[in-house]
Amino acid sequence: MKEKFLKICPICNSDKLKKNYQFENFYILNCHNCGNAWRSNMYDEEKIEEIYCIDNYEDNPYFLYEIDMVLNMKNNRFKNYKQALDFLKASHIQRELLDIGCGTGTFLALAKRYGWNLTGIEISEKLSEKCKQNVPEARIITKRFEDADLEEGQFSLITMWDVIEHVIDPVEVISRIKNLLVAGGIALFCTPDESSFLAKVGKVLYNMNISSPALALHPTNHTYFFSRKGFEYIIKDLDMQVHKMYSQNAFFEHSEMASRIQKVGISMIEKVSGIADARYEMVIMARKKG
Ligand SMILES: [Zn+2]
Repeated sequence: MKEKFLKICPICNSDKLKKNYQFENFYILNCHNCGNAWRSNMYDEEKIEEIYCIDNYEDNPYFLYEIDMVLNMKNNRFKNYKQALDFLKASHIQRELLDIGCGTGTFLALAKRYGWNLTGIEISEKLSEKCKQNVPEARIITKRFEDADLEEGQFSLITMWDVIEHVIDPVEVISRIKNLLVAGGIALFCTPDESSFLAKVGKVLYNMNISSPALALHPTNHTYFFSRKGFEYIIKDLDMQVHKMYSQNAFFEHSEMASRIQKVGISMIEKVSGIADARYEMVIMARKKG
């Protein structure tokens, strides 16, 4: 059994659900109470292991960027990292950073320049090996975050770049992150925004029976699709504060998003969305009280 059908909201337990999209092998359920959405047939731990450890996940173009590209700021992803690090620069006295799903270490390599003490967690052994070579100063743990043995209350910053939409139980994960933070510590999540302008355009096209953009915006390895309102619900429900929330320029180079025309269309929509701060990728910084 590798998939479980979730017919009650896994985040707030509401049964006020609506089927938002019907794709060939799965559908997307949306909760009216908390505003979050998820794939109907949820993966289990075995399937997660298969996706990220067995199926050559490390060959995904997301991981093909070399470390010098981080340091030379050559694309949006790295500008986004810098924006967040600049904002957080003066926030903390302690300097312990944990990056969950650290991949090849691109974010850790940049954070090193800001003086953070570095810990990374990576489920894929191959990516973890690359990360150790790229950022030898970092302590790297090769495990699923949920299974890693970490001391509570020791990190002042915990980051999850493009990861929370891949987990089986986001409430459990964010709750654990809260326990690992010092009082006043910050958790940063970057994830697609289901309430972004681009997602809305995808929905309009889907309603006109053009479903490929919507499918591309709901990749099969994403388990959850959060909206801003929905993510805020989770943070507040866990008795944390929203420290900052904003949208950033997305990084679509690695996407399965088909043609050049689609990419140009997306880039135009994203430019307009930027004016209203409603771009596809949202960043949420949540603060542990105290
Ligand atoms: Zn809900």
